Amino acid sequence: MNITVVGAGYVGFVTGVCFANLKYKVNILDTDKEKISKINKKISPFYEKNLDSLLKSIDINATTDYREAITDADVIFICVGTPVKEDNSLDLSYVLDACKQLIEFMKKNQLIVIKSTVTPGTTENEIIPFLEKHSGLKEGKDFHLAVNPEFLREGTALYDFQNPDRIIVGCKNQNVKKIFEKLYDDFSCPKMFTDPATAEMIKYASNCFLATKVSFINEIGNICKKINVDVYDVAEGMGYDKRIGRSFLNAGAGWGGSCLPKDVKALITKAKELGVKPIILESILEVNDRQPFKIIELLKKHHQDLKGKDIGILGGAFKQGTDDTRESKAIPVIRELLKEQAVVKIYDPQAEKNLKKLFSQVKYCSAEEVLDSQAILILTGWKEFEDLEYKGKLVIDGRKINQAKKESQTYEGVCW
Ligand code: NAD
Repeated sequence: MNITVVGAGYVGFVTGVCFANLKYKVNILDTDKEKISKINKKISPFYEKNLDSLLKSIDINATTDYREAITDADVIFICVGTPVKEDNSLDLSYVLDACKQLIEFMKKNQLIVIKSTVTPGTTENEIIPFLEKHSGLKEGKDFHLAVNPEFLREGTALYDFQNPDRIIVGCKNQNVKKIFEKLYDDFSCPKMFTDPATAEMIKYASNCFLATKVSFINEIGNICKKINVDVYDVAEGMGYDKRIGRSFLNAGAGWGGSCLPKDVKALITKAKELGVKPIILESILEVNDRQPFKIIELLKKHHQDLKGKDIGILGGAFKQGTDDTRESKAIPVIRELLKEQAVVKIYDPQAEKNLKKLFSQVKYCSAEEVLDSQAILILTGWKEFEDLEYKGKLVIDGRKINQAKKESQTYEGVCW
């Protein structure tokens, strides 16, 4: 089976590399020439643990040419971005653009798989009609379409792709089901076959639930902070309950990234379109929008006027293990510090390049230089921050770095 992956981002590139590792012939297609040239030089276009070394051990072709990538493909995974528009509805333009470009080279019986996250109903109501209209071909007869949402997490993307908790496939045809069974034959997890809209909803419901768990524990943490209780002890006690579980109960400065925020927003918009008031979803967003400002509040307890103050930041990526800064909670904190005319110094082991695209007014430093500041804010939970020297420092911690709590002179945890 020849596989083509459209979109060499965090999902598409990992998907391509992992299928190539399973000995499928894989073509990666992206409109970004720089990414494609890097991949062909065996350099990963972004940071993800073990990705560079796996890339060096596999055979994979990368191209910007739709003809080259589509003509011989049996299965085409669409993995381009699906951000939200200004009105917070799903922006399907990248998916439709990819569809439009591939139509010209489509062959009979090809299977197109939507791996990008799209709101429930999108494949049936928008993507299939779009492909049929522009190609003159009929889905189910001339070509096939299926939905196969991705659940990997940046930071552990390879591991997650190779060891999924489940594989969800939305398709309407027994032959398509058989293709997926073969494709995922090496995976021993539960495989659920359902219709496209249900598969799409499973992805949104899962992401929204995870976001709810974190906003919930952040709210509990905000209460804990007032009564001198460590929310991490509370989470441990809660986590022993199998109905609750310990994961995604790590309180902190809020959740970010390329998925949870936009997916929650898109489902809120979809719900409203359908006449459903999304009370819970709107409040988890509100909790999350407020959470990073707790860091500033705590900082101001110690430095009321931030003008001219040297403030060091450890971590700018939205989470540890990635260089991705999309919707990172470091962003509103840095903006606020700059607004208050603080002198901002930052260190992140992987995200400096992406941070530089956002902020030219901050000083990019080593961890040691950041530690030499009037206050240190910890905004990403990189493991290496546990090995730094915090003696004599004022630390405001948004990510529960135990070493900082143990060693620093003055320590404030955001929710503990
Ligand atoms: P990304 O922004 O990292 O990558 C998207 C890539 O698609 C870019 O390299 C871009 O150049 C390319 N692209 C855009 N238009 C194209 C076109 N017409 N033809 C070819 N390439 C094109 O995105 P991502 O983070 O990998 O996310 C992709 C999808 O997967 C989204 O729908 C996202 O919601 C979903 N998802 C992401 C994650 C994650 O952790 N990042 C996890 C699960 C699901």
